[in-house]
Amino acid sequence: MAFAQNTNENKFKQLKEELATPNVFRNAAGAPGPSYYQQQADYKMNIVLDDAKQRIDGKETITYTNNSPDPLSYLWLQLDQNIRIPGSDGQLTNTSTIDDFSSSWALNRAMNVANFDGGFKIQKVTNADGSELKYTIVGTMMRIDLKKALVNGASFSFNVDWWYNINNRMEIGGRSGYEYFAEEDNYLYTIAQYFPRMCVYNDVEGWQNKQFLGRGEFALPFGDYSVSITVPEDHVVASTGVLTNESKVLTKKQLNRLAEAKKSDQPVFIVTQDEAEEAEKKKSTGTKTWNFEAENVRDFAFASSRKFIWDAQSVQLETKSVMAMSFYPKEGNPLWERYSTRVIAQTLKTFSKHTFDYPYPVAISVHANSIGMEYPMICFNGGRPNADGTYSERTKYGMHSVIIHEVGHNYFPMIINSDERQWTWMDEGLNTFLQFVTEQEWQRNYPSRRGPAHLIVDYMKGDKSNISPIMTNSESIWQFGNNAYGKPATALNILRETILGRELFDYAFKVYANRWKFKHPTPADFFRTMEDASGVDLDWFWRGWFYTNDHVDMSIENMQWFRLDTHDPEKEKAQDKEFSKEAGAGISSIRNKESIKETVNEKDPSLNDLYIISDPYAVTPEEKAAYQKFSEGLSQKDKDLLASGYEFYQLDFKNKGGLVMPIILEFAFEDGTKELIKIPAEIWRFDSENVSKVFYFKKKVVAVQMDPFLETADCEVFDNYWPRQAVPSRFDIFQQNK
Ligand SMILES: [Zn+2]
Repeated sequence: MAFAQNTNENKFKQLKEELATPNVFRNAAGAPGPSYYQQQADYKMNIVLDDAKQRIDGKETITYTNNSPDPLSYLWLQLDQNIRIPGSDGQLTNTSTIDDFSSSWALNRAMNVANFDGGFKIQKVTNADGSELKYTIVGTMMRIDLKKALVNGASFSFNVDWWYNINNRMEIGGRSGYEYFAEEDNYLYTIAQYFPRMCVYNDVEGWQNKQFLGRGEFALPFGDYSVSITVPEDHVVASTGVLTNESKVLTKKQLNRLAEAKKSDQPVFIVTQDEAEEAEKKKSTGTKTWNFEAENVRDFAFASSRKFIWDAQSVQLETKSVMAMSFYPKEGNPLWERYSTRVIAQTLKTFSKHTFDYPYPVAISVHANSIGMEYPMICFNGGRPNADGTYSERTKYGMHSVIIHEVGHNYFPMIINSDERQWTWMDEGLNTFLQFVTEQEWQRNYPSRRGPAHLIVDYMKGDKSNISPIMTNSESIWQFGNNAYGKPATALNILRETILGRELFDYAFKVYANRWKFKHPTPADFFRTMEDASGVDLDWFWRGWFYTNDHVDMSIENMQWFRLDTHDPEKEKAQDKEFSKEAGAGISSIRNKESIKETVNEKDPSLNDLYIISDPYAVTPEEKAAYQKFSEGLSQKDKDLLASGYEFYQLDFKNKGGLVMPIILEFAFEDGTKELIKIPAEIWRFDSENVSKVFYFKKKVVAVQMDPFLETADCEVFDNYWPRQAVPSRFDIFQQNK
């Protein structure tokens, strides 16, 4: 068999070349293979927060265990703070035009960035015995040379001492830093990327030591942390992990309230607003050390301020209960006391349902103006009301969404630990998808920005030179939010609602989450697992949605109507007569009826012969006889078929956007009923541009609509109708409203 045209082949071609060859580390089903390994990095740290100088001093002991089969003669660490060293690669490679300097705010920010004395000041790197270790700093990375290669199964402990100046987040930005409240001279610190952290070493990248340029986030191994954080005595600290010396740092009253919160399914105050406002007024001179421990986390962050109000509640999941807690300054109220902890609780419930019960003991949301940033068990979230306590709808839902999003990141990438420096979509896209699911469970018709297919249309039909495939390295993505958050989240929602259906999708997604819980998945592991567990070939879907920048635009080009020829002259001629009436007459014929009073043969009927018949639709005796003979030769089955009364419709479809998708058709019939027919995307497998298909019904079709529930992200809907229908554009609606 030969195919005349094979342009379609690549749309349904399996992803053999694109995906890494399955091996003993990662198998062809998308699961960890028999020799899967991952490295372990355990940290013991003493951190001092200097509130007078806004600086962090730290000492850490890292114990690194090599579980790989490879001997390692050096170790790589991430020094992400080094992006704040003036002249860092991140700063130098940031492009700008003069428009970026057009406001005094922007100009100030640029100057502040250039003048800030940022970056790690590494004091020393030593062996466990205190002897010096050779290290080399390469931009945002540090290499430590080992005297003897670290072999499989061996551990190596070493110490690093450092300090750095904390950035003013509100002036120069950043995922962490401080906000200064001038009216009472207080600081609110949200601290992260504050210690030299081990890079990931694995079977995919070797060392993941791609420089931090500012956007591609972090790739970190799992480990256990024991961290002491010394802060001003009157500060309240929120942190990754479990507080292990609460009786030393909390008052009796606070301890009692915390115990009460552990039993409550509604938020309970541990520090009230009145108490926080009291603490804001005076500055203590002493310090207090808070001890936290965390198991099996890939990072560790904390927040500290005397401004914190603190509330907490217990959240019951299927197999366990978890504490949800919020820390916020009075500036966050009334929004924060009302919603933050409750939103955390719902996020844990929805995410647990779709993956696995939240494995950590606590989930914390800290209010930090203007950002949203995630760490294990703790995240920093914006959403600040106006000074008078009023807030817009946008602020409210922005706050809800950012909390859902950042708490959700506990799953992707904190537990399902994908490589953020390489693939933004693996955490942002999957997380934004479940964010949408959570938002809809929080409130019916919640104004979700991302998830539904029709919301991605404007982006996908835009200028292609400005749209990257999803499978693009984080640092090189055009239109970051749409590309790495919106499009993959939408693609997953389409898989769930349209391609696989909820049951198959939810099952496969859960399999993926459980296979890679506390492990390091790659895109291939996700793609393969979703197919392996659902039993549906999705290579065409990954290829179109993740490897190209095509969009969806399918149309109904034509519809033709056919009926069976019954050969019965009585029926057929009567029908022909009907059609001739419907077809109407040409303009000359219409006018001649009036203008020609009498034709020649009307005047002289003797001119008429047998071709001039008064009724061309009358059945002749010869035709009757022919039909008699025809039907004698038919079987009963054929006779029944001819009498069935089916109407046949050939529909011609065109794929104008490139992305192949299912064809979903709603037929409307003469009798007012409707029927939905869903054709899988494989209809395009022989020809990805033009396909035709015949549909037949016992009823007459009056209209057909493609994608009636807006589930395929079709970018042009005017051509989805037969007959064509006007679809008002935004401009039309604007004109009508005027
Ligand atoms: Zn995110």
